[in-house]
Amino acid sequence: MELSETQAKVLEILQEDPRISMRRLAHRVGVSTPTASATVKELEELGVISGYKTLLDAGKLGLHTFHLRIHGDLRSWEDLVESIVGINEVHTLRELDDGSLLAEVLVPSLDILDGIMRRLRVLVGVEKLEVSRVTGEFKNSGTVQTDAATGLSIDCFYCKKKIAGNPVKLELDHRKHYLCCRVCASEYEAKYSRLKDKAGSP
Ligand SMILES: [Zn+2]
Repeated sequence: MELSETQAKVLEILQEDPRISMRRLAHRVGVSTPTASATVKELEELGVISGYKTLLDAGKLGLHTFHLRIHGDLRSWEDLVESIVGINEVHTLRELDDGSLLAEVLVPSLDILDGIMRRLRVLVGVEKLEVSRVTGEFKNSGTVQTDAATGLSIDCFYCKKKIAGNPVKLELDHRKHYLCCRVCASEYEAKYSRLKDKAGSP
């Protein structure tokens, strides 16, 4: 399931101007206003559009950026990730192919960074921390290249593999979810209701 030309154009324009009106968006894409609205809704449901945020310039606010590489024991990763994600100053947290985690941390002072390091060091599973301070930034576009030629495609919500052909659509809680096959659809539905039960229980 590759992105259509209309979807790709909508993404390109929305990344440039997230506050554009539907009418104006439709005009620029060359489709009707209802089609533009439906496309945006579909991209939101697909999870391709994950949100609309106000971008701030951290430097202007006097924040310092650090990259922390966190090495450790994979067995406790899930709890570890949850604890790190819960630290407000952690701006992004990514897993790298060598099994380590890379956190970007924005802090107003070195004292706060020290506090975060102390918290990280005592978490179960953390074996080694490496810290680098970001001293310059030359590009941080916050956008993704989406022109149709890149052949971007939608991944199955369950197995994360590319959806070949038409997706299986599941409607859960008034939202569409896109799966590659019936098997993934039923597994996904089971996982979804498990997570929902867990979230609902005290
Ligand atoms: Zn799948």
